[in-house]
Amino acid sequence: MTDARESHAYDADLHEPGSPAAEGRCSYHQQDGRDAAACTGPAVVSYETADGWESGCSAALEELVERGEILPLGQGA
Ligand SMILES: [Zn+2]
Repeated sequence: MTDARESHAYDADLHEPGSPAAEGRCSYHQQDGRDAAACTGPAVVSYETADGWESGCSAALEELVERGEILPLGQGA
C-alpha cells in the first residue's frame, strides 16, 4: 500500500489538452484490457501514473482504490 498514489478530484487542467481525459471522459476504461462496458461515464478523479495523468469514472476510482493503486479521494497530503 505504500506506493498508492494520491488522487485528486477530477481536474481538466491536469490532462493533456485534446485528450479524452481533458474533455471530462474516463481514460481508465479506454485502456486495453479494461472492461469499457463497466464505465460509468464522466471522470470524477484524476490520478497520476508512470505515463502521466489519467482520469477515471466512479467505477474506475473504486477499482483503483480496491487494488491499492491510488488513495481514496480526499486522503493524503
Ligand atoms: Zn470509466
